[in-house]
Amino acid sequence: MEMNITHPIARNTERPLVITGPCSAETEEQVMKTAQMLVDHNVPVDLFRAGIWKPRTRPNNFEGIGFEGLQWLKQVKDTYGFKVTTEVANTQHVFEALKVGIDVLWLGARTTVNPFSVQEVADALKGVDIPVFIKNPINPDLGLWRGAIERIYNAGITRIGVVHRGFSKFGQTKYRNVPQWQIPIELKRDFPDLMMVVDASHICGKRDNLYDVSQKALDLSFDGVMLEAHCDPTNAWSDAKQQVTPFALKEQILDRLVLRKTGEDDPDFQHDIEDLRGQIDAIDRDILQMMGNRVNVAKKIGEYKKANNIAILQQSRWNEIIESTMEQAKPLDLSKEFVSKFLKAVHQESINHQERIMQSDTSSKKV
Ligand code: PEP
Ligand code: MN
Repeated sequence: MEMNITHPIARNTERPLVITGPCSAETEEQVMKTAQMLVDHNVPVDLFRAGIWKPRTRPNNFEGIGFEGLQWLKQVKDTYGFKVTTEVANTQHVFEALKVGIDVLWLGARTTVNPFSVQEVADALKGVDIPVFIKNPINPDLGLWRGAIERIYNAGITRIGVVHRGFSKFGQTKYRNVPQWQIPIELKRDFPDLMMVVDASHICGKRDNLYDVSQKALDLSFDGVMLEAHCDPTNAWSDAKQQVTPFALKEQILDRLVLRKTGEDDPDFQHDIEDLRGQIDAIDRDILQMMGNRVNVAKKIGEYKKANNIAILQQSRWNEIIESTMEQAKPLDLSKEFVSKFLKAVHQESINHQERIMQSDTSSKKV
């Protein structure tokens, strides 16, 4: 399906995109204080987040303050000029969020996983022009993630981005949700221009590693980060272990992040890399030519073996080749695994040619 998706929010290409704010809106004071602290610490906020309705795995946890919290987001928008975003999971959420002027909506991991819910949100969004971020489903299923993008797109939403927040697993691991980077990378191959943000908070589940996971995502050409920040993280009503203060967010994470260049618009980089790529191409051509030469010699040996009725595989000769090549590879910084795999593949190609020669019907040629 040909899709015409554009970025949900403008991106300053000099720095990573930053979506931050508390996991949940708890009180008016907590929301406003967090926003104020973000301003005080010069955090570049592209989008201020706060969950209003919280999908909790088990009951009796804080399930979100509900629609009255939307007013506090509106207050953040009016007071600080931040664009604001919240999670929506059903028709009611969409209507309430649109009514107060929330700028951007997001679909949570527990919504993306369920096509009924995604379709319900998509139906509620028909005819509405609002950007939407779509988190990955809680299980590592690329199809569900793609499916959610398609359902929202089919509702007429074209400003779509995705948030990678890791995948559920059973048992103890370093991460609360394992990143499985190959899945967002695969999604990016399908949708090369899709804005992609890493939610390091939900991947890590604790304050350690937030920087490492964020930097790793930038190294993989993600556009930015979603990081939960709270005025008083340890006393947060949800996700207390993973939230950071606006100060820590700035000093310990954002200020240390490095945006690697793609090199596309840098002429020096292009020149240097072109030169090196040219060298690689020339070497590859030589290797190929040498392989062709090698096969020609192997074919001659095959003819000789055939004429003299000698078996193709000479084990002692093969052992000799392996040993001497391994010895020659030592100073070349080539791993043993590679050299062994390479030799086997090269040898197999010779054997295949020689077998063909052995099996060819020479009597027919004589006729
Ligand atoms: C959240 O962003 O607070 C949240 C509930 O995230 P997720 O849907 O990724 O679990
Ligand atoms: Mn959270």
